Amino acid sequence: MFTGRVRRSGKLRSVWHKRERKRRPQDLPTIDAVPPTTSLVTRSRYNLSEADWLCRSPDTMIQCLATLTSDRLLSFHMTTQAVERKLRLFYCACCRLRWAALPSDEARQTVEVIERHADGAANRDEWAAARRRILLFERAARRLGRVWLIPPEMRATADLTGLIVEAAKPHRSLQCVYGRAGWSVDATERIALLLEIFANPFHPIAVEPTHITGTVQALARTIYSERMFDLMPILADALMDAGCGTPQIIDHCRGPAAHTRGCWVLDLLLGKS
Ligand SMILES: [Zn+2]
Repeated sequence: MFTGRVRRSGKLRSVWHKRERKRRPQDLPTIDAVPPTTSLVTRSRYNLSEADWLCRSPDTMIQCLATLTSDRLLSFHMTTQAVERKLRLFYCACCRLRWAALPSDEARQTVEVIERHADGAANRDEWAAARRRILLFERAARRLGRVWLIPPEMRATADLTGLIVEAAKPHRSLQCVYGRAGWSVDATERIALLLEIFANPFHPIAVEPTHITGTVQALARTIYSERMFDLMPILADALMDAGCGTPQIIDHCRGPAAHTRGCWVLDLLLGKS
């Protein structure tokens, strides 16, 4: 019995090709036979709902934002650009919570530039310089992330460096499901910041244009630009004087939660969404 390998050459090869050509259409699966995609990534990114937002997990909440930007029925009230701006400010706010632990003054300056860039206030030169630094931070964070046997404080520094990179490239957070930086900031603090910046993105709250008086607008602008967030209760008084009685807005201004740039009430009043 012949057991050697048959080299498909010449006439034999042409016969084989002819036979394969005839068989291929029958062997290929039809469109109906292709199973629907059920990978974890797809389910996590596109099938999340308000209940997932309320589950209070920072990673799941960011996945909800990815849902918002990818679902055309949900994205009408919050564009991808708006989500990315707010996400940028969220990561900057995380960095501010660990301001003293950031690796260098350069890192702190970079966070400040990214904050200004989020609002279109950074000039071209300083943003170009920040981008060069971010590239170095990205390499450093990746290099440290690969090493397992490093002291915990160095690992935390690498994570904070990664946070700056996430702030510079917020679209990456919306695309990847796992491996985001930020574990060095407590989950409760990150949740509080996400609520401060996004509130409930599945149920956006509107404000009557007539309630945004000159006084309200000037006060909101000062609070935002000067970071004078302790004036938020006064802003609530000004809003009530203007006739605004929306409890979510007033409660947010008077509540105990810390405010930051990207605060959903300030964004609403300043038209930054
Ligand atoms: Zn706020």
